[in-house]
Amino acid sequence: MGRVTTRYAELLEKNRRYLWNPFTQMKEYLDDEPVIVERGEGVKLIDVNGREYYDGNASVWLNVHGHNRRELNEAITEQLGKIAHSTLLGAANVPALELAERLVQLAPDGLNKVFYSDSGAEAVEIALKMAFLYWKHRGRPEKRLFLGMTNAYHGDTVGAVSVGGIDLFHASFDALLFETEKVPYPYTYRYPGSEEECVEACLEALRRKLEEKADVLAALIVEPIVQGAGGIITMPPGFLKAVSDLCKQYDVLWIADEVATGFGRTGRMFACEHEGVTPDLMALGKKITGGYLPVAATLATDEIYDAFYGDYAECKTFFHGHSYTGNPLGCAVALANLDLYEREDLITHVQEVAEHTARELARFYELPHVGDIRQRGLMIGIELVRDKETKEPYPWEEAIGVKVCRRARDLGLITRPLDNVITFLPPLAVRKEETTEMLSILYQAIAEVTGR
Ligand SMILES: *Cc1c(COP(=O)(O)O)cnc(C)c1O
Repeated sequence: MGRVTTRYAELLEKNRRYLWNPFTQMKEYLDDEPVIVERGEGVKLIDVNGREYYDGNASVWLNVHGHNRRELNEAITEQLGKIAHSTLLGAANVPALELAERLVQLAPDGLNKVFYSDSGAEAVEIALKMAFLYWKHRGRPEKRLFLGMTNAYHGDTVGAVSVGGIDLFHASFDALLFETEKVPYPYTYRYPGSEEECVEACLEALRRKLEEKADVLAALIVEPIVQGAGGIITMPPGFLKAVSDLCKQYDVLWIADEVATGFGRTGRMFACEHEGVTPDLMALGKKITGGYLPVAATLATDEIYDAFYGDYAECKTFFHGHSYTGNPLGCAVALANLDLYEREDLITHVQEVAEHTARELARFYELPHVGDIRQRGLMIGIELVRDKETKEPYPWEEAIGVKVCRRARDLGLITRPLDNVITFLPPLAVRKEETTEMLSILYQAIAEVTGR
């Protein structure tokens, strides 16, 4: 690390005294020299010591057009001149209405209603509650069980954790969670057989579960096309379509958690588009505001919305809401964000940069401890293994991913590992030359930490 200023030392002391960071072991964090960010410019973060870093994970999968984008800054200040916040509880505001229309126009056909919240986890919780009440209002209250996938991540509130499947994050909360069922996600690299066999086994497990429990199942929740926090695990083609068909066949709703994949991350506006499927409910968050402000949304079909529609005395009102639901500043910047997608043909850009990075990534296989590289669009995971032949993983205690990312930071790129998987999710507007530089840093960090 470069020169450490007095200002940095003072701020770190405040961190030590007052701030508890999320997903962070504070003892290790405070013993190290954490980055304290002051500014951002394009795909770079600049810390209080004046050091620049590439934002290699788009500030945890959020940033789209780079930091400090003039158009987005202006959208916020313009809205700020009118009003910062007004409620959606029994009222509406202009940007929330405009954005709802825009989202419905963009979303897969059939998702016609938008319910706002502030984070991806909330968007998921809302989808779960809607599915639960949908069956109740339809006179089938026994359909209240949720089905999730192994290795899934849907956020950190209690409901979202209940349908999650990452033991490291979720097991410690077990006693607190509601009951769910899990079916296997097709993690082909770790399946002892061919990709086809893996797909077949996973679909058969789902079919059996649906056959056995359709009477009591409300919905299946799935991260379409790529499982994110579980390790950037890509679905084989055709899998999602088969899942959607099975759910329809057995009359079980399915919820697409597009919080990570939505808004172009996988090279289509929504991951569901890769397979031409429409879920019954869709959770959105993260890039919806370009990574600027906390807005999330749950999209529902008319069929679900209509199940709640009636006279007040019918007791079908959806009693759920948050103070900042439909925040005008957030919705205004989300609209400006979507304008930029159009104006810059961002989805095509993502596809082009993704092809470029795929070529750059091919050489990572030369490294003796790179076991698998998974990519959809600009959602990339590099799985490190102790032994490439046997696919023996590094033991988690070795924290190999943490070490690689720490080294990458010294070399000028910030990203986070998911256990032994190094993630690379740059801001979508990243230029090809920038990804070349970013990947050469990652290559060097992996080579230095794991050996050539
Ligand atoms: C990040 C994420 C969430 C949670 O979103 P928050 O805004 O962090 O609550 C939910 N689902 C998926 C797939 C995610 O990647």
